[in-house]
Amino acid sequence: MHIAGNPQHLTPQQRELIGLAARLGAERFAPRAALHDREASFPVENYEDLRRAGLLALCVPQQHGGRGADFATGVMVAAEIGRHCGATALGYSMHLCSTLWAGCVADALDMTPEQRTDHERNRAIHYGRIVHHGKVFSQPFSEGGAAAADKAPWGTLARPVDGGYVVSGKKIFASLAGAADYYGVLCTLDRAGATPRDALYLAVPADAQGVQVVGEWDPLGMRATVSRTLLLDDVLVPHSARLMPEGLYFQAAARFPHMFTALSPAYLGIAQAAYDFTVAYLRAEVPGMPPVKRRMYPTKQAALAEMRIKLEQTRALFLQNARDAAVDPDKDARMRLYAAHYTVMENANDIARLAIRTCGGQSMLKSLPLERLYRDSRCGSLMLPWTAELCIDRLGRECLYEAGERDEAIE
Ligand SMILES: Cc1cc2nc3c(=O)[nH]c(=O)nc-3n(C[C@H](O)[C@H](O)[C@H](O)COP(=O)(O)OP(=O)(O)OC[C@H]3O[C@@H](n4cnc5c(N)ncnc54)[C@H](O)[C@@H]3O)c2cc1C
Repeated sequence: MHIAGNPQHLTPQQRELIGLAARLGAERFAPRAALHDREASFPVENYEDLRRAGLLALCVPQQHGGRGADFATGVMVAAEIGRHCGATALGYSMHLCSTLWAGCVADALDMTPEQRTDHERNRAIHYGRIVHHGKVFSQPFSEGGAAAADKAPWGTLARPVDGGYVVSGKKIFASLAGAADYYGVLCTLDRAGATPRDALYLAVPADAQGVQVVGEWDPLGMRATVSRTLLLDDVLVPHSARLMPEGLYFQAAARFPHMFTALSPAYLGIAQAAYDFTVAYLRAEVPGMPPVKRRMYPTKQAALAEMRIKLEQTRALFLQNARDAAVDPDKDARMRLYAAHYTVMENANDIARLAIRTCGGQSMLKSLPLERLYRDSRCGSLMLPWTAELCIDRLGRECLYEAGERDEAIE
């Protein structure tokens, strides 16, 4: 089954790139997934494969030497990777985000001519690192407080100094910690009365003085993301570290909300993998398992039908959302976006739950991938900025209120 639905609706470029991801995933990533999950170790070899295949530069614009894939193509490719290793797909999505945010997202925003020139100069440097040197970027924005939920300014501060900024702060759950070459750090420009409008998005080199990765990483799922804590202690970065001009991240977050859904592909991939496994298991086609078919039982068939329905619902919303990605979505598109993100994250876990219940006891043994898919799938709806709860909060409010509407105070 094709991860992106009917392949006839895909462009030739999409078919080629998803096919490439499918081959790498099946031949390289899937066989390594159990070990990295068990050890909670980073799949360095997978990124070497992505580098060799040119997929690190997937969403780098062609004029900068990349493959020039758009948002929709990027998330489809990441979803296919998620089918074979969810943690690799999640980390890879974060890398893709850095290229998309500095790319098609930034292109769609209002900038002064000076800002545009400055951005072109800076992103040529960042893209060059990916295209010519195979560098990997990550996305540490979570701080453990309200900022990542879009309710407060970032606690990590960037103090302007001659030639650049001095960055200090702490980021929790920094996927690819210790493995990325550059951390795409969200911080606040350090000035009196700073607000969320003063957010700044900087590429901090992993080997810069004052950068430290600390703490344990022994979580339930998505263990191979190695999302340890990142400490930034007076880290000096040049002006060219800007992945967006000053003040532009706030505009991006307000006007291009699809940028936050680029983390969901890993979970569509996991949902697909849980379904694929269940089909193979019930047909007695899982390698290494006794050839005992279970497909003739009506309850198994009904459960698989339920899984397929949820999977198709998930895929349909995922694809619509991917193709909708654009600046200034209207209210309907924005609400579909919350619904899509919520659906992908929650359904992935529900499909994995159904898979375990349907396949039965042997399917949850560590020797098979299903229990890992189940644990990995649990993480999606916890991920800020759009946890399942925050999607519900936003959707419910926006269903009932138009922009700027307030209620009279109740006496
Ligand atoms: C596998 C994995 C990988 C991750 N990788 C990254 C990464 O690379 N980069 C990154 O930045 N983060 C990453 N995260 C972190 C993730 O997105 C969350 O930010 C993280 O789980 C925050 O933990 P928390 O328990 O403090 O969050 P929460 O307590 O859920 O939220 C933090 C704060 O947000 C506000 N908030 C939360 N829910 C609500 C609500 N319903 N209404 C109002 N306010 C609310 C509150 O102020 C709360 O204190 C990853 C998470 C996982 C599971």
